[in-house]
Amino acid sequence: MGASRLPPAVTSNTIGGEDAVVVKGQLATWDAVMEFMLAGNATFTLRSLRTGTRFTYRVRVKKEDADAKTEDPTYFVSLLRGRDNESDYAYVGVLRRDLGLRLTAASRMGRRAPAVVGLVWFLDAARCRREVLGTRLEFWHEGRCGRCGRKLTVPQSILDGFGPECQGLRTR
Ligand SMILES: [Zn+2]
Repeated sequence: MGASRLPPAVTSNTIGGEDAVVVKGQLATWDAVMEFMLAGNATFTLRSLRTGTRFTYRVRVKKEDADAKTEDPTYFVSLLRGRDNESDYAYVGVLRRDLGLRLTAASRMGRRAPAVVGLVWFLDAARCRREVLGTRLEFWHEGRCGRCGRKLTVPQSILDGFGPECQGLRTR
């Protein structure tokens, strides 16, 4: 699995008004990407290697479903729109484990919005496990645990996208 372990990138980020260093990490296999994206509180950036376009999304599991340990939980997807990483998210729609994205009445953008088109393309590639990771597209976690959202500090955690405690709770 050496190919999934790429060197992390160090970037500076402003969170909550104070400068904090976050270390992002690239996930390069579909297994790693899927586990991270559906872990419950995942923030990640998709970057097109063809156009350089990037979008940052957040995928959160519906709390009631997580509490009830529902087999096919509902996830809420939002898109980072501003510079404030904590608050400027716009609701995109509902995601399920089959990777179908459904826009709802509350969606803040339509099917043809570039961020939605890009996400649907990515989800379709993920469903078919197309070989696009690292060739057409990069998947970066934003330096926070995909399950609980806490900042990742341990090098191994940055590689995995999960903090030490959540690492132990991984089921698959
Ligand atoms: Zn965690």
